[in-house]
Amino acid sequence: MSRIAYVNGRYQEMRDASVSIEDRGYQFADGVYEVCEVRDGRLVDMPRHLTRLQRSLSELRIALPMPLSSLAVILHEVVRRNRVRFGIVYLQISRGVARRDHGFPLSRVKPSLVVTARTINPAKGAENAARGIKVITVPENRWPRVDIKSTALLPNVLAKQAAREAGAYEAWYVDGDGFVTEGSSSNAWIVTKQGRVVTRPDSSGILSGITRGVLIEALEALQIRFEERPFTPAEAADAAEAFVTAASMIVMPVVAIDGHAIGSGTPGPVARRLREQFHRFAAFS
Ligand code: PMP
Repeated sequence: MSRIAYVNGRYQEMRDASVSIEDRGYQFADGVYEVCEVRDGRLVDMPRHLTRLQRSLSELRIALPMPLSSLAVILHEVVRRNRVRFGIVYLQISRGVARRDHGFPLSRVKPSLVVTARTINPAKGAENAARGIKVITVPENRWPRVDIKSTALLPNVLAKQAAREAGAYEAWYVDGDGFVTEGSSSNAWIVTKQGRVVTRPDSSGILSGITRGVLIEALEALQIRFEERPFTPAEAADAAEAFVTAASMIVMPVVAIDGHAIGSGTPGPVARRLREQFHRFAAFS
């Protein structure tokens, strides 16, 4: 079956879908994106993703190309046309097409909107989660506005590649003070030997993950002790458990950091439980 993309007002076969070479997304990564999980054909926590999208756009002074309710219709339609039951839907908005010039276009241009969706075999995610993933650490080298979900992801690309080449699945950034900020495409968590779940506050140095936010609410409901504070790679190496969160990975256990086993070196009970329970606390639409 051919894949369908929504591009600037039209649903098109992926192989025919294109944007201008003068699109500022292409020229400058002058755009933002969102990724929503699709589960049993429904979108997970879409309203929260759209709220974050709106915030990213407004921080960059890019106009919302249409009301959020219309974007929601398109997201659903792309999922439907691609017959995705389990997977992700991707949305990207760039500042639009204009003659190449670093400053904003002088005349008003319409932002470009692209939406795609793809299937991810849920068995594959379950397999990864059963095995647990390895992470490496890399120096934080991103700009200070990583709270904006921008398509400018070159440091993230290089960090993920470094992880791959080291036989790991994710890279955790470590800031100048020696604390983990987050993963190249996920938020980072540990579980202390006292059973406290720890993650860095979203006030600085991280993207405020939607999965992270929902999980914090789940922790409260499940009466699991939670601390919002930075932690170091050494504390992670010595922790009972670790895991990462992202819409595309839900809760993914981490079993090693820089080659050191974490806890038993297998997925821990807290991470496994949170992965099982997560969708009870998510909103479906
Ligand atoms: N941090 C970064 C850098 C990410 O790319 C992602 C995934 N997009 C996350 C955190 C997790 O965010 P979410 O739970 O909203 O997918």
